[in-house]
Amino acid sequence: MKEQDLNSLVNQAAELIVNAQKIIVFTGAGVSTESGIPDFRSPGGIWERFDPRDFTYQKFLTDSEGRKKMWRLHREGLMTDAKPNPAHYAIAELDKLGKLDCVITQNVDYLHQKAGIPDAKVFELHGNNKWIKCLSCGRRYDFDHIRVRLNAGEESPDCEVCRGILKPEIVFFGEPLPVEALHEASQRSRSSDLFIVIGSTLVVYPAAYMPMYAISSGAKLIIVNLSSTPMDQDAAVLIRARAGEAMPLIVQQVKERVGR
Ligand code: ZN
Repeated sequence: MKEQDLNSLVNQAAELIVNAQKIIVFTGAGVSTESGIPDFRSPGGIWERFDPRDFTYQKFLTDSEGRKKMWRLHREGLMTDAKPNPAHYAIAELDKLGKLDCVITQNVDYLHQKAGIPDAKVFELHGNNKWIKCLSCGRRYDFDHIRVRLNAGEESPDCEVCRGILKPEIVFFGEPLPVEALHEASQRSRSSDLFIVIGSTLVVYPAAYMPMYAISSGAKLIIVNLSSTPMDQDAAVLIRARAGEAMPLIVQQVKERVGR
């Protein structure tokens, strides 16, 4: 994208943000790639190294070998040490400016929270790799705590209270999406007046319904993504650039307009 074109689109996006009251940011894999996390589905992604058929919810519940494989994937494949990148920080900056209702994300890497957005403002449609929950008693563990046990040689750690099965809060294949997060994300999308899609090609459902709910309720749409999406023609501003390039420019323009 030519620099002058990018600048003009950045200005248009900033103008929409300044004038909006209820802004939702929706993020997909394109926001995480700049933190070194390959898209699960892309070349070099997790599904080239692990067989997705091994990671169904059913297999996890019923097969102890399946659980061992899952913990290996969690430890080696999910990049739990990844750091937020300029796109995450720019989105967090919007929150500090009072310009963020919430983030709805397809990513499981917890990087929005690591960049400073409160947990209560992040709706994770596919769960996260940060928290591990006991399926019997409901106790939650930080993955850093479980990692110590994995590093000490445990292949399939169980609950320290009740010996129940521990499961990462990531949504597995064949597992229903988290009902509350999905409900809340849908409601908020319907009542937003500006919906910003960043780094998602909008092909995974039901996540991809969110921008549809938003525009059908009258919200304006901004899309920042490197490739085309099925909703490009609905966008008021369409920016074909990396999230980590475009978002800091947009937020800088917002700050200048609101005098911060
Ligand atoms: Zn337990």
